[in-house]
Amino acid sequence: MKTVQQSSTRDFTYPDLAQASRSWPMEATTIATKQPVADEGVRITRALQTTLDLEELLETFHKEITKLISYTSLAYSNIPQGIEYAVGKAAPHTCTYHLVIAGESLGELSFTRRKKFTDPETMMIEYLMCSLVYPLRNALKYKHALQMALKDPLTGVNNRVAMDSTLQREVELANRYGTPLSLIALDVDYFKRINDNYGHATGDCVLKAVASAALSSIRSTDIIFRFGGEEFIILLSNTDKEGAICLAERIRQRIQTAKYICNEAMIVATASLGVACLDKGENVHSLFSRADQALYHAKAGGRNCVKIA
Ligand code: GH3
Ligand code: MG
Ligand code: MG
Repeated sequence: MKTVQQSSTRDFTYPDLAQASRSWPMEATTIATKQPVADEGVRITRALQTTLDLEELLETFHKEITKLISYTSLAYSNIPQGIEYAVGKAAPHTCTYHLVIAGESLGELSFTRRKKFTDPETMMIEYLMCSLVYPLRNALKYKHALQMALKDPLTGVNNRVAMDSTLQREVELANRYGTPLSLIALDVDYFKRINDNYGHATGDCVLKAVASAALSSIRSTDIIFRFGGEEFIILLSNTDKEGAICLAERIRQRIQTAKYICNEAMIVATASLGVACLDKGENVHSLFSRADQALYHAKAGGRNCVKIA
């Protein structure tokens, strides 16, 4: 006989679905622990309130509820915030909940196992999820705040705070493992003229477009930072001199050919770029200043060009 695969997806809208909790008789105990269901809920809520870290929160939730419900995998995904978390090995029968609190989506939570989930089991899951929603919302807000603290608000790329810690870490890793690492310093040419001719708001618009042109030219492993004003730093891990020059040239061309239409004005922008590749044992400061020197030479050499340290 063929078993139909269970694949249910439903909205878990808090507090509407917290009705699940009301449908449990107060004296009901869990099969696994023989403790009152309500007590288990309180215990889990307390455990979840001890952390704002999203991974730790989901791990705690999993550790707690796995004592009460049997499943083989738990997965959480929040695509808009780029979060994927999974524990265990996925099995054919799935129970998925789209978590919503006060109209705000908190992502999706899926449980899987080899055997179908029974109605009392899904009720239990829903009851236990009531403990998760508020701590989850807090953890998501906290994660978002941490991410925002590392972004430049105008261009959306990483800011200088992010740059300092990332550069330090990447240089240490490259020195330890002997892998190549390159740095590109980029500065928009004659940017002051754009501000002077078209106004600061138009300058901002061009700056955003330049950042996005540079971002669209790099690979997913490269990281771009706004260093300040109209200057950007691009960190290329595992990239040698030839690769870095090639990428810098691609960025330069992309910036030159991009169409900058800001506040109804069509603006031409170019950038100068300086490339430096990490020497064995070199520190961040030295690498950075060599890229800056190369940038200086690119400016002195007529701008809209790439120079290597
Ligand atoms: P060069 O080719 O030598 O780099 O010339 P430049 O005009 O680009 O360089 P300069 O350092 O003389 O001018 C940079 C200008 O960038 C001056 C500053 O007001 C402007 N600027 C810095 N940050 C921002 C910003 O966030 N928005 C706008 N619109 N302008 C900015
Ligand atoms: Mg400039
Ligand atoms: Mg500058």
